[in-house]
Amino acid sequence: MNKEKLEEFRILLEGRLDDLLKEANRTVAGMTDSKENFPDPTDRAALESDRNFLLRIRDRERRLISKIREALDRIEDGEFGMCESCGGDISEERLLARPVTTLCIDCKKMQEAQEKSRSR
Ligand SMILES: [Zn+2]
Repeated sequence: MNKEKLEEFRILLEGRLDDLLKEANRTVAGMTDSKENFPDPTDRAALESDRNFLLRIRDRERRLISKIREALDRIEDGEFGMCESCGGDISEERLLARPVTTLCIDCKKMQEAQEKSRSR
């Protein structure tokens, strides 16, 4: 994948991460005493440094946040867009729909088929 494409995905992922952190911040603020002071939701560094914050947000959001961070790490490492199972390229179409994915469509299908047969 060329640099321009990677940069596009990085911007896309960072945008999603920002949205999630803002949303999570609202969730946390709504759950706790209004007297407590919360950092500006746009101040991502402050939010990210607050470990308690991450412990208090919902599981689903926490999982997504860590997936997005992993995807950003993969961009840094030059591994983004590579299937972690077969090492092949993940199609751009699939990455656009699901930028946090680590499996190409074939491996994903295989994984799903295996999960199905296990639960049977
Ligand atoms: Zn694969």
